[in-house]
Amino acid sequence: MAIRYTCRHCETEIGTLPFESAKEAILLLHKMDEEEVEHFLTYEKDGALTVRCICEQCEQSLQRFPDYYTLNKWLQ
Ligand SMILES: [Zn+2]
Repeated sequence: MAIRYTCRHCETEIGTLPFESAKEAILLLHKMDEEEVEHFLTYEKDGALTVRCICEQCEQSLQRFPDYYTLNKWLQ
């Protein structure tokens, strides 16, 4: 099963990971606990798994302009 990584801010596809278990991969990669991981996972209708994370560009913008994203969230 492939796991798709997309940016939750700009919807850019960051990449695909060929891991057997999404949770294991994410736990390993992000050192989160299971509850946190669930928060970032989206199960698609076709059974695929999408991980909502943040791309490099957005991460940089977020660090520079944290207010912009807070505002964006409220407007959606
Ligand atoms: Zn992004």
